[in-house]
Amino acid sequence: MTCGVAILGSTGSIGTSTLQVLRRQRERFRVVALTAHSNAELLEDQAAEWRPAYVGLVNSGKGADCLVEAATRADVQIVVNAVVGAAGLEATLAALRAGKRVALANKEALVMAGELVSEAARAGGGEIVPVDSEHSAVLQCITGRRPGELARLILTASGGPFRTWTPERLAGATVAEALQHPTWKMGKKITVDSATLVNKALEVIEAHFLFGLPYAAVQVVVHPQSVVHAFVEFVDGSVLAQIGFPTMELPILYALTHPERVPDGGARRFDPVEAGALTFEPVRPELYPAYALGRAAGEQGGTAPAAFNAANEVAVQLFLEGRIRFGKIAETIERVLAAQWPPSAQSLEDVLAADAVARRLAREAACS
Ligand code: NAD
Ligand code: MG
Repeated sequence: MTCGVAILGSTGSIGTSTLQVLRRQRERFRVVALTAHSNAELLEDQAAEWRPAYVGLVNSGKGADCLVEAATRADVQIVVNAVVGAAGLEATLAALRAGKRVALANKEALVMAGELVSEAARAGGGEIVPVDSEHSAVLQCITGRRPGELARLILTASGGPFRTWTPERLAGATVAEALQHPTWKMGKKITVDSATLVNKALEVIEAHFLFGLPYAAVQVVVHPQSVVHAFVEFVDGSVLAQIGFPTMELPILYALTHPERVPDGGARRFDPVEAGALTFEPVRPELYPAYALGRAAGEQGGTAPAAFNAANEVAVQLFLEGRIRFGKIAETIERVLAAQWPPSAQSLEDVLAADAVARRLAREAACS
C-alpha cells in the first residue's frame, strides 16, 4: 500500500522539491492532491504528470477553501504544507484535527498560532513533522530520546547575503541584492527573511512550539556554509549535530518517512574534505535588528508572534514591490510590536484579529 500525499503550494520551491523527492519514491507514496495559488500552467503540468484525484487553484473559482479540502481528504495520510505565509494556517489546523501527519514547511502558521496548532494536533491525533532543515536536524538528533534529556538547541543561520555589510549600507540594499542568497535557492519571501534574519526569529519560535523548550534554550549561531543544520545539547552536556550539503530534499524526505529512513539517491553525498572549513560566528545585532524583535515577540507570547509575522509579511511584500527600502522592514515590525498585543491566542478569532490589525498598522507604519 502506498501512502497518500497532498501537497499544498505544489508550484513553489518546497512544492517542486517535494515532487522531485516523490519521483524517486513512487513505490512508497502517491500524490493524491495538489494545490497552488496562481501558477495555473505549472499546476496543469504537475496534474498531467501525477494524475492526482484533486487539484485546486486558489486564484480561481475554488478560492482558499481548496487548501482545507485537499488537506482533509480521506485518501490523504500526509499533508505537505508548502504554502508561504499566514494563508497556510487553516489547512494545518484542519489536517491535524483530521488526524493527518503535516509535513510542515509553512512555519508562519505555527508562529502565528503555536498554541492552537499544538491543541489541534492533540485533539485530532495528527502530528507535525518539520520540513524546515534546522528543525528536521533537531528531530533527527532527538528521535528515540526522552523529552527530559534535551537541554538546548543551537540553530544555524547562513547570515544571508549581507553578513559582511555595514548597517549603513544595508539600510539601502536593493531587492536584487536581498534575493542573492549565498547557500539556498528558495521562494522570494523566505529569501528576504533570510537577509533580515526574520527567518531565524520565526524558526526560534517554531522550535519553541515544536520541541517545548523555553526561549533561553533556543540559541542561534551564524554558520555561512550551511552544512551543520542544528546542534542539540543533551542534559549530560553531550552535543549532536546533523550535517549535510544544503538541500531541502533530505528534510522533505525525512518528514515523509520519520522515524524511519529509506534508501534515496537524491542528495549529494557528504564529503568533509569537500565541505572544507566550517565557521561559526555570533549574530551581530546591529545588522539584524528584526531578529531581536522576533525573539522578543516570541517571549511575549499571546498574539505578539502573530503580529510580528503579519508585520513582516506586509513589509516584505512592500519591499519586494520596490515601495520601501530594506531598512524599513525592521522599522515597520518595531512600530507594530510597540502596540498592545492581546495576551490570549486561544482561539482562531483572536489570532486572525491580531493578524488583521497588525497588517493595517504595518501598512501605516511602512508608508509613513
Ligand atoms: P514559494 O513562494 O516558492 O512557494 C509558495 C507556494 O505557496 C506556491 O506554490 C504558491 O502557489 C503557494 N501560495 C502562495 N500564496 C498562497 C495563498 N495565499 N494561498 C494558497 N497558496 C499560496 O515559497 P517556498 O520557498 O516554497 O516556501 C514555502 C514555505 O516553506 C514558506 O513558509 C517558507 O518559509 C518555508 N520554507 C522554505 C524553504 C525553501 O528552501 N524554499 C526552506 C524552509 C522553509
Ligand atoms: Mg530553515
